[in-house]
Amino acid sequence: MNAALSSDDVVIVGAGIVGICIAAHLVEAGHAVTVIDRTGISEETSSGNAAAFAFSDVLPLAQKGMMRNLPRWLADPLGPLSVPPTYLPHLAPWLWRFWRAGAAKNREASLVAQAAMMRLAEAEWAGLMDRSGTATMLREDGSLELYESEAEFAASLPGWVARDRFGIVYRHVEGAELAGLQPGLAPRFVKGTFVPGWKTVADPKLLGKAVWAYAEKKGARFERGEVVRAEAGASGATLHLADGSSRKAAKLVIAAGAWSHLLAGQLGEAIPLETERGYNTTLPADAFDVKRQLTFSGHGFVITPLSTGLRIGGAVELAGLKRPPNYARSRAMLEKAKRFLPGLKAEGGREWMGFRPSLPDSLPVIGAARAPGVFYAFGHGHLGLTQAAATGRLIRDLIACQAPAIDIRPFRAQRF
Ligand SMILES: Cc1cc2nc3c(=O)[nH]c(=O)nc-3n(C[C@H](O)[C@H](O)[C@H](O)COP(=O)(O)OP(=O)(O)OC[C@H]3O[C@@H](n4cnc5c(N)ncnc54)[C@H](O)[C@@H]3O)c2cc1C
Repeated sequence: MNAALSSDDVVIVGAGIVGICIAAHLVEAGHAVTVIDRTGISEETSSGNAAAFAFSDVLPLAQKGMMRNLPRWLADPLGPLSVPPTYLPHLAPWLWRFWRAGAAKNREASLVAQAAMMRLAEAEWAGLMDRSGTATMLREDGSLELYESEAEFAASLPGWVARDRFGIVYRHVEGAELAGLQPGLAPRFVKGTFVPGWKTVADPKLLGKAVWAYAEKKGARFERGEVVRAEAGASGATLHLADGSSRKAAKLVIAAGAWSHLLAGQLGEAIPLETERGYNTTLPADAFDVKRQLTFSGHGFVITPLSTGLRIGGAVELAGLKRPPNYARSRAMLEKAKRFLPGLKAEGGREWMGFRPSLPDSLPVIGAARAPGVFYAFGHGHLGLTQAAATGRLIRDLIACQAPAIDIRPFRAQRF
C-alpha cells in the first residue's frame, strides 16, 4: 500500500503510550490521524513498565540519590546502575550533561518544570481515562518507599522536603503502621514513606491498548511499518518505510521512544537521547499479597501488583539500543525481592527488558522541531506512562496553534 495522505493529516511515528495518547487527543480535536509503528500498539517499552502514575516524582534523577549511590552501585555488576565499559566513550557527553543537570541552579529549573508537567499529567490522565472509559484501570493505593537503616532514611529527607513546596503529600511511617501498610515485609526495613497520592494502573500494556481502542473508534488509523527515513519541507513531511513505500504527512509527530533521535537526526537536529534500559520479572498474581507499589530506592527497583501479575524490577543499564538483554539483571532483583518479602513465590515469572528514552536533564522533549510541520514528543525517561496524556494535550495545543496548557520552553529540543 502506498497511501498518499491528504494535506490535513497528522502522522505519528510510534505507538507507545505517548503516541497513543497524542493520537487520542488529536482525533478528539477532529484531525485525521495515522499512527505508524514497526511492532504494534503498546508493544515495546510501554508494555512492560512498572505501571506507576508517578505524579509526585518531580525530582530530577541527578538529584534522586543517584550521585550519592553511584560508587556502590557501579561496583556491583548486577546492581541498580551499570555501564558496560565499551559503551562509556559513546556515553561520555551524555554523562557530562547529566552531571551538569545536577548543579543546584539547573536542578531547580528542572524541578519547577517537572512539577508543572506533573500537575498537568494528573489532570489530563483523569480526563482521558474518563473519556476513554479506562478509569476502572486506575488504582489509588499509594506507594510505600522502604529504608533499611536510619541513615538511609535520613539521606532521603532532603528529597521529601523538596517536594513540600509542590503540595505533595507523604507520611513517614514505622512500626505497626509500616507493618500494616505491607504485611509480611522482612524486618530489615526499619522505616518507610507512604505517598497516598501515588497511583498505578492495572496493567500498562492493557491501558495502552484500551486508550488506542478509544482513539480508533474516533477514527485514528494504525499502520504497521518501519520508518527508515524522514524528510521535511515546506509542503509537509515524507516518510520512507522499510518495505520501500513512502507516506506524506502535512504534520508529523515523532513519538518513537528511545529511537526518536535517529529520526530527528535525519531532520537535521542532534538531540542527546540515550536509553536507560530497565529490567523486570512478572510473577503470577498470587506470588505475594502486595498491597501497593513498594519502592526500594537503595536497590533501584519497585514491586507493583498488577491485574496480570506481580511485577518486580527497575534498574538502569546505560548500554545503548543494540546490545542484547542481560536477564541476569532481572534475576538479581528477583533474588533481592525474595529476601525482602519472605515467602514470595518466585517461580513462573516472565522476564522483560525495556528502553527508557532519556534526556540528561530528566525532562522530555515536547515541542516544534526546526523542520516545518514536525513536532517532537519523546524522552520521558522513567515517566513516560505518567506524562503521556499531558504530552498528548500539549501536542494537540501546538498543532492547533494554541498557547500550550503549560510553559513548554523547558522541554524544547533546542535547549541542548
Ligand atoms: C523497567 C521500567 C519501568 C518503568 N516504569 C515506569 C512507571 O512506573 N511509570 C512511568 O511513567 N514510566 C515508567 N517507565 C518508563 C516508560 O515505560 C517509558 O517512558 C514509556 O513507555 C515511553 O513511551 P514511548 O511511547 O515514548 O516509547 P515506546 O513505548 O518505546 O514506544 C515507541 C514506539 O516507537 C516505535 N518505533 C521506534 N522507531 C520506529 C521507526 N523508525 N519506525 C516505526 N516505529 C518505530 C517502537 O516500535 C515503539 O513501539 C518504565 C520503564 C522501564 C524500562
